Amino acid sequence: METSCIFCQIIRGEKPAEIVYRDESMIAFKDIHPHAPVHLLIVPKKHIRSVNDLADEDKGIISEMIFRAKALAGETAISRSGYKILFNVERGGGQVIFHLHMHLIGGW
Ligand code: AMP
Ligand code: ZN
Repeated sequence: METSCIFCQIIRGEKPAEIVYRDESMIAFKDIHPHAPVHLLIVPKKHIRSVNDLADEDKGIISEMIFRAKALAGETAISRSGYKILFNVERGGGQVIFHLHMHLIGGW
């Protein structure tokens, strides 16, 4: 946990977010500036800066995040129409929040 990290603050309940899923290892909430009718962020509770910083021990959480994206796509009824799941990595990859997160984007 990092005190200045906005996603850690959301995880700790110190900052509001429209949380749509929570378990012991991750949360998912609505992106505050959606790029599509459905735009969710799937975020591990562990503070990991980016994909570059993933360790072998994080293999499980990445797998869980992808399966959670699949489930949330079903719950938001975008499975059939289609969606993107993506990670922006570091500044050149468009990352602006340096706490690992996966975008689930769809519903066009
Ligand atoms: P990235 O460019 O991959 O780092 O994406 C960060 C995303 O976080 C952007 O799409 C922002 O709109 C979103 N975001 C930033 N602050 C918040 C917040 N407080 N609640 C929800 N989403 C946020
Ligand atoms: Zn964090």
